[in-house]
Amino acid sequence: MKKILIYILLFIIICFILPAIFTNNAINAKETISNVDNQQENNNENQEKNSENTEQNSNYEYKKYGTIKLLHQKTGQVEEVQLDNYLLNVVSAEMPATFEIEALKAQAIVARTYTVYKIKNKKHENADICDDSSCCQAWISKEDRLAKWEESKREENWKKIEECVNKTKGKIITYNNEPINAFFHSNSGGTTEMPVNVWGGTGYPYLQVVETAGEEGYTQYSSEVILTLEELKNKLKTKYSDIQIDENNNEDIKILEYTDSGRVKTVKFGNHNISGVETRTLLGLRSANFEIIKENGNYKFSVKGYGHGVGMSQTGADAMAKQGSNAEEIIHHFYTDVEIKDINSI
Ligand SMILES: [Zn+2]
Repeated sequence: MKKILIYILLFIIICFILPAIFTNNAINAKETISNVDNQQENNNENQEKNSENTEQNSNYEYKKYGTIKLLHQKTGQVEEVQLDNYLLNVVSAEMPATFEIEALKAQAIVARTYTVYKIKNKKHENADICDDSSCCQAWISKEDRLAKWEESKREENWKKIEECVNKTKGKIITYNNEPINAFFHSNSGGTTEMPVNVWGGTGYPYLQVVETAGEEGYTQYSSEVILTLEELKNKLKTKYSDIQIDENNNEDIKILEYTDSGRVKTVKFGNHNISGVETRTLLGLRSANFEIIKENGNYKFSVKGYGHGVGMSQTGADAMAKQGSNAEEIIHHFYTDVEIKDINSI
């Protein structure tokens, strides 16, 4: 009788209780796996958030290009510096700290890109880049920078520059997965220029003519140079010693041709036709976007914009930031079909 009871008990255990336990375990196991899935999803989400927030990660580590060799032109000394430390001295030299934070962030990304481009396309034998703005990129020591700011603004301004460099750590602009030659200038006069019209060559697909609103609000937008005929001839003679201009012939000084962006391509100065870019250099104009007006026997060069006009306009960037654009939108506006990537991923 006892045996029968035991058999019945075993039967009940085998048929009902064990399957229930296994099923529960199975459910638990599945829950555990889906918990892991969830955790993985959470981890992935966090990783995504982290990569979005690379901008806030001050522990960002550069696999390459973390250190650069900077040539100080005046002393000839080559200094090894951390890339982002170097960028503090560049951004604060290249753009006013009073500009919008998104414009300064765009400048930090552009300056980082320009630096990496220079490392990969060396101009100097023993250095990656130099501190001369007419050769490579402007640079100012922290000490000199602070001294030029009002004392009450020094700490605030420097912190703002640090924030812009740190929040964009590792970010560079690429085209075909390569850092671009990220030209920039002060004020485009409303329209940027193609590099071929400034330096010749074949140009770059990402440097096109683009228009920007709001640049007219900056002091860099308009300027003028007034010269007597004698002064004009003397300036041109530094390159064209045989220059002859007939002041009674209004056709003897005349703009002959414009570039697609509206800048002067060629000017007739008496017996010479001179390019707009060369005229700018010889006469000390702020850009090649000018008109020539004869006024009271003098020649007035009325100039729009400041700089070569290629790539990002700094005042244009600030105007865009004021209208609500962020750093990435600013960059995509000035550089055509580019991507903004993490430098460690290229
Ligand atoms: Zn240089």
